Amino acid sequence: MNERIVILGGGESGVGAAILAQQKGYEVFLSDGANLASERRRVLKSQRIDFEEGGHSEELIMNASLVVKSPGIPDSAPLIQKLVAKNIPVISEIEFAYRFIDKAKVIAITGTNGKTTTSLLTYHLLKTAGYKVALGGNIGRSLAALVAEGGFHYYVVEVSSFQLDGIVNFRPDVAVLLNITPDHLDRYDNNFNKYVTSKFRIVENLTNEQAFLYCADSEPVSEEVSRRKVEASKFAMTASNNDKLSAYLKDEHLIFNYQFKKDERHYQIPLSEISLIGKHNMVNSMAAVLSALCMEVPIEKVLKGLKNFKNAPHRLEFVKEINGVAYINDSKATNVDSVYYALDGVKGNIIWIAGGIDKGNDYSQLEQLVKKKVKALICLGKDNQPLTSFFGSQIDQVTEVDSAKQAVEQACQWAEEGDVVLLSPACASFDLFSNYEDRGDKFKRAVNKLNKTLKMNEA
Ligand code: ADP
Repeated sequence: MNERIVILGGGESGVGAAILAQQKGYEVFLSDGANLASERRRVLKSQRIDFEEGGHSEELIMNASLVVKSPGIPDSAPLIQKLVAKNIPVISEIEFAYRFIDKAKVIAITGTNGKTTTSLLTYHLLKTAGYKVALGGNIGRSLAALVAEGGFHYYVVEVSSFQLDGIVNFRPDVAVLLNITPDHLDRYDNNFNKYVTSKFRIVENLTNEQAFLYCADSEPVSEEVSRRKVEASKFAMTASNNDKLSAYLKDEHLIFNYQFKKDERHYQIPLSEISLIGKHNMVNSMAAVLSALCMEVPIEKVLKGLKNFKNAPHRLEFVKEINGVAYINDSKATNVDSVYYALDGVKGNIIWIAGGIDKGNDYSQLEQLVKKKVKALICLGKDNQPLTSFFGSQIDQVTEVDSAKQAVEQACQWAEEGDVVLLSPACASFDLFSNYEDRGDKFKRAVNKLNKTLKMNEA
């Protein structure tokens, strides 16, 4: 009889794992405690994969020789505890997929923030170089689904801590750790150290044949790097001037001191050649460039890709310039940290659109930047009291609106040539919008309409 593999969870990663397992000749059973999306059900049926939904039948699960657990299921779930007690191995989907990657190279990218941007850019650099590269993991398709599809020589994988919690042999050729700030602590007994340990599992199987890229500006990351022995070839990155590190920022240039295996190279790339803006994105760019260099992408291709890269929407997304005023959509910035990077990265005086559901923000981190750069604040939320009471006395022009359209129209009235209108809310969107995408889309629509109205007035 074939080895029986049970997949717990029927989302993107679970269905991907089921397809790969089926292809590799396992006896496969997928079980989901909730109902499956109809498209997933259709795929499983068309592949003739045995499954159940809306509950777990233990008698069909406890006889597994291997279990692949979806990242959404915590280790504390009673079923997982039972499997562990019975010594049935429980692994994550990236671990499972990795076991079937033969010669292809893997670049794994993790961190609390910046994973998507860095993964997209890294993928773009390799793609621009003509590589047969796939992008997946937390973003888009699961690694397992990509491995099942086959034909790729490189995999760029966005990896969450939940996926790392279930690895055994996972050994990426390049491991990237961008930063660690408190997040998802409910899954780590509210213990930040446990979350840090989980993120660092990305290096646990590395040797000096693999590269480890980390951001030295993130204190928990650099502290942990100096505390533990990391066997990998290390590349430290910083958004400030420090010529001892592998990549740093100096006089409007990204500087690279690249050294890996027997190769050594030095590059200076002007910021004007990089499409992304903002200090945090400079670290993301360093990580993508170093990853590409480790994969032997020629520097001309790296430069070409850096210049013509377009990030995912709602992340410091340039919308349009109208009458010398740039409109930027950073709707994904739902916390103060992200807004800091946005205000810092944007050039010119800023008309700042912020607000929404304030999750207990501490705005003092923004005070200096706001004093220096923000000339007007437009509050776009149901309850704007936290923003108005903090910034009311610091900013000359402050007003409240309750739609993206009103916000954009007001901004347009106040803006002068050279100013930037920046939607970077520091808050969640659910009071006035369905999600941050909806907020960003309505902002963009209003900007584009504005363009038309202004043109009509000119005519
Ligand atoms: P993730 O996939 O990890 O959520 P994204 O690339 O989607 O990351 O970026 C999410 C938000 O995090 C962005 O709006 C930006 O403000 C912020 N961010 C991006 N990169 C970094 C970074 N390297 N350090 C800190 N914050 C970042």
